[in-house]
Amino acid sequence: MRIAMIGGGYVGLVSAACFAEFGIEVAVVETSPSRLAALREGRIPIYEPGLDKLVETNMQAGRLTFGDDIAVAVAGAEAVFIAVGTPPRNGDGAADMQYVHAAAEQIANALTGYAVVVTKSTVPAGTSRRIAEIIRAARPDADFDVASNPEFLREGNAIGDFMRPDRVIIGLDRTRPERVARAEAVMRKVYRPLSLIEAPLLFTSLETSELTKYASNSFLAMKISFINEMASLCEKLGADVHDLAKGMGLDGRIGRKFLHPGPGYGGSCFPKDTLALSRIGQEAGSPCRLVETTVQVNDARKIGMAGRIIAACGGSVEGKSIAVLGLTFKPETDDMREAPSLPILHRLAEAGAKIRAYDPVGMDAARPGLPPSVAYCTDAIDAATNADALVVLTEWNVFRAVAPKAIKEAMKGDVVVDLRNIFDPAAMRAAGLQYQSVGRP
Ligand code: NAD
Repeated sequence: MRIAMIGGGYVGLVSAACFAEFGIEVAVVETSPSRLAALREGRIPIYEPGLDKLVETNMQAGRLTFGDDIAVAVAGAEAVFIAVGTPPRNGDGAADMQYVHAAAEQIANALTGYAVVVTKSTVPAGTSRRIAEIIRAARPDADFDVASNPEFLREGNAIGDFMRPDRVIIGLDRTRPERVARAEAVMRKVYRPLSLIEAPLLFTSLETSELTKYASNSFLAMKISFINEMASLCEKLGADVHDLAKGMGLDGRIGRKFLHPGPGYGGSCFPKDTLALSRIGQEAGSPCRLVETTVQVNDARKIGMAGRIIAACGGSVEGKSIAVLGLTFKPETDDMREAPSLPILHRLAEAGAKIRAYDPVGMDAARPGLPPSVAYCTDAIDAATNADALVVLTEWNVFRAVAPKAIKEAMKGDVVVDLRNIFDPAAMRAAGLQYQSVGRP
């Protein structure tokens, strides 16, 4: 089987490498010259554990190729996946569909035989139908169907998520029942290896599939915001948010995951998808008020964290040296999109702090978005050296292993604000540190 993948970013590249691992021949089309050059040389332009090896093996096996000629990639492909970006449109938060629509035009001109055009990007309900219209308008003769197949992988665990998904959602055009069977057969063939491990394949309408992705991400974002609000309440009432989360999460209806408090969610998906769903609800005349509030709660949370750090430093960080551990929005990724570190560090710099930051893989990606005054360090202890205060922003495993005593000895001051609760409060206090975490007494 041959398929084409339009877009070689996080989702396109991971999906392409995993499909190739399934034994499918995958041709990736990438328009960014720098990304394409890197991929052709076998260099991975993003940080994702295990991806370099998977790409290398499948390139060597001849199943995974990279190019910029869509006609070459689409020729003979039974499915053409669209995995281009859908960033927030400037101003109103709606998803910017220009890359998806451009890809649809390009696919239209490249189609030769029958193919299913599959949207993997996160898109508003109605997009797959719009893609079909674009292709039909450009190529009335083209033989194709559209499908929606949103991607649920998490950065940092992308390969595992793709290879062993909780579910695969596939939306088909049920308004054309006479065509559904053919498109469904192609999609079943693409995902056959997952059927063998009994991953649930859920077939729905196009609109349901498209909306399921936004609903899932928004629900998870809401869960994070909920536990963050509970963490603040715990601080006021002397309760412990971890015990609370365990007590809640043991209820099977609630579940234990995504009940970890922190400085607010970030990343390339939750902030943009909650905004987009808010907009979709408004435009449909059916506002999603819980989601709208989640967006507000999370924005306030990120900003509020800078205030918390300043308060821990006695009300001012003017001229103070602040060590920052972690910059990326979560561990095991170099993705800085919407990372809480961005607003927090800008606030601290504006308030006169001298910031010494360290992140195991995200520093290059972080530099362009952070204040120019930030100094970048070689490890956690280098960042802590002579610092008045130390702040944990991302829960990289390597930080968990740093001994409280080593932190105390390196620092000039003794204030530690752990926004990810990676340290043991008793051990930190025993080392002579003034330790604050989130939602714990
Ligand atoms: P990305 O920006 O990393 O990658 C998109 C890639 O597409 C870029 O490399 C870009 O150069 C390329 N591109 C754009 N137009 C093209 C065209 N016409 N032809 C060929 N290449 C083209 O984005 P991403 O993070 O991979 O996200 C892609 C989509 O997947 C988004 O809709 C996102 O919401 C969704 N998604 C992302 C994640 C995630 O964790 N990143 C998870 C699930 C879903």
